[in-house]
Amino acid sequence: MNHNLLNDICLRQLTLSGVHEGETISVLTQGDERADYADAFMWAAQTLGARTFHLRLPSPASASGAWAVGQSGLAGNQLAVDALKQTEMLVDLTFLLFSKEQFEIQAAGTRVLTAVEPAPLLARLMPTRELRERVEIGAELLAKSQSMRITSPHGTDVTYRLGVYPTMSEYGYTDQAGRWDHWPAAFVFTGGADDGVDGTIVLAPGDVLLPFNTYVQAPVEFTIEQGFIRDIRGGLDAELLSSYIKSFDDPRGYGMSHVGWGLDERAHWHGLTQFGGGMGMELRSFYGNVMFSIGPNNELGGPNDTPCHFDIPMRGCSLYLDDELIVDAGELTVADMRPAGKR
Ligand code: FE
Repeated sequence: MNHNLLNDICLRQLTLSGVHEGETISVLTQGDERADYADAFMWAAQTLGARTFHLRLPSPASASGAWAVGQSGLAGNQLAVDALKQTEMLVDLTFLLFSKEQFEIQAAGTRVLTAVEPAPLLARLMPTRELRERVEIGAELLAKSQSMRITSPHGTDVTYRLGVYPTMSEYGYTDQAGRWDHWPAAFVFTGGADDGVDGTIVLAPGDVLLPFNTYVQAPVEFTIEQGFIRDIRGGLDAELLSSYIKSFDDPRGYGMSHVGWGLDERAHWHGLTQFGGGMGMELRSFYGNVMFSIGPNNELGGPNDTPCHFDIPMRGCSLYLDDELIVDAGELTVADMRPAGKR
């Protein structure tokens, strides 16, 4: 992306994130990745009167190619962690998500923004205050609910017992001390009780498998009991899922993780056809998707920290909170969660 455009979107991002004079904004990269983003963020921070520096980690010593979450380049580098903890905001261009180093930095009051998606996607899904409000309305509804039920015409009927884990919102910027967000994003989620997810989920053609970054071609049926997947049936997609989870040799890879829905009408379901999907944030965010996840729940404060993780946005599902219909076959029912043109 053109330098001026990149500078411009980073300035808009840091403005939304409340960056101001007197703050220090740190920028973290690894190897030779995203040096252009780092420069643009530092320019934007300075333009807003903040101090800034760029901390660059070496390239990972081993590149397994697997999307194993929780393994950060900051591990064992306490001096670097301490430097980042002393800043008001960290712009993470490496994807620290789920690492204990990120949790430690947040616990020190540093707000953290992750940005690793292709720059044209950052620009197209620029966060807005209006979208944040709609996401926060969804989060309020979710936070006060005791149960979630998801159904679909393809045979999904699963119930999550809620009330154990906090509700999280992602709207693509962060202006609150200690809070993390990811640019771009527009969704809400929580997790079921560790032994409180039961039923059947049937993936339909067109549902999305992240991190495979593929669309399901033929139905996949999950049987879930007491918070764990007991059976996976179907064709090639089911075999690939099973084989991948099995390769971690970790029974916690079958745990049920976060669950929620997306709100961004600008995000495309067909997003994987562009930029290879990047990290898949566009797919997590598209309007009316219901996303469930497999694997770790330590992000919500739970005990499961397996590195085996799937996020699976689904189309056309219905979602009930305490028996109230919130997503009706992929359409949000609450006017205040809809975009202005759809109320
Ligand atoms: Fe996830």
